[in-house]
Amino acid sequence: MPKKLSSRWADATLAIHSGEIKHGLNAPVTSPVVRAANFTFANTAEMKRWAEGKSEAYIYTRYGNPTLAVAEAKIADLENAEAGLVTASGSAAISSALLSVLQSGDELIAVRQLYGGSYRLMRDILPRMGIRVHHVGTDLDGVERLVNEKTRAFYVESPTNPTLGFVDLKKVVAFCKRHKLVALVDNTFATPILQKPLDMGFDLVAHSATKYLAGHSDIIAGAVAGSRERVGAVRKMVIYLGGSLDPDAAYLLIRGLKTLEIRVRRQCETAMAVAEFLEGHPKIERVHYPGLASHPDHRLAKEQMKGFGGMMAFELKGGLAAARRLCDKAQIFLLAASLGGTESLVVLPIYTSHYRMSTAELAAAGVKPGTVRMSVGLEDSADLIADLRQALA
Ligand code: PLP
Repeated sequence: MPKKLSSRWADATLAIHSGEIKHGLNAPVTSPVVRAANFTFANTAEMKRWAEGKSEAYIYTRYGNPTLAVAEAKIADLENAEAGLVTASGSAAISSALLSVLQSGDELIAVRQLYGGSYRLMRDILPRMGIRVHHVGTDLDGVERLVNEKTRAFYVESPTNPTLGFVDLKKVVAFCKRHKLVALVDNTFATPILQKPLDMGFDLVAHSATKYLAGHSDIIAGAVAGSRERVGAVRKMVIYLGGSLDPDAAYLLIRGLKTLEIRVRRQCETAMAVAEFLEGHPKIERVHYPGLASHPDHRLAKEQMKGFGGMMAFELKGGLAAARRLCDKAQIFLLAASLGGTESLVVLPIYTSHYRMSTAELAAAGVKPGTVRMSVGLEDSADLIADLRQALA
């Protein structure tokens, strides 16, 4: 690839060409899957150089692999990062990123509205490792009171899962700079197409690549992007803890990434049409979609993101019973967890991402028993609206 040009390329071009070595006679147009656990050395001198940290040769796929490297280059370029890393899941990316920064005795500040798995990691696992976690609302109210000499990092999601809350990312960066904290963000909902947190000053970006990046609900994968040094520290954690991605999954991630930009743009358009329909429907109580002027963070979303995304949540006037009826009656929308794929999905967070949470924890996360979360896919928007109309009848 003519690497020099890539700095001028737009996201759609980067997603297709970054990391791929092509051109020339008989070069495959797609990157091959290097289905190998281990790699040979030419001689013991090469092996010695590797052991001394003087060579970047591949040794073993848990450490790195040419197919994984293609996906890593694409994600790094899309996030405008020096380096990228792919992992076995978003959870592996998040836990390895956090553990690359935190150790026993350290404290972490995190927003309260998080993907349930990230919240549970902070509630159930990090404290067992001697890491104390403080939560703050998405408005960051009172955050100054949570910081002390043990605070090392600040972790946010924006937009938040599942009710599309927003955190002012510039404020987080300014706070982190003031207190010398490492700033981490889960960019799964926005994707680098709509938001590039490293450009705003974040240190590390994590993704559930299972979602929009791969985009077809057929793999579990994660990703991290940041400076070479920070991503190197996360890679060390992945090597030690074992959360490395399989090359076949990396191939599907590469394939998915190639259409990321066009998928996200279309999902933004369709989500807007669906959100407007829902907001105007007499049986709907409230729609949480940042593209609607009624969303409390509409202004911030517009400022901070290039589009409003394909995710929304809503409540029906009939509460949980009505929400269940809608989900059970939908024909095109599938009743399934996860998000960001080609199929449109509906789900009740109390039975999925936010299971086994107390009423207080649910309230703090902004989740009501009848909250429906929707992931808008790539079907025709009129068909989706017709499906919702019949499901609400
Ligand atoms: N972050 C967000 C915002 C998510 O929605 C999810 C999964 O639903 C994760 C992280 C975890 O990713 P994975 O399921 O790939 O481990």
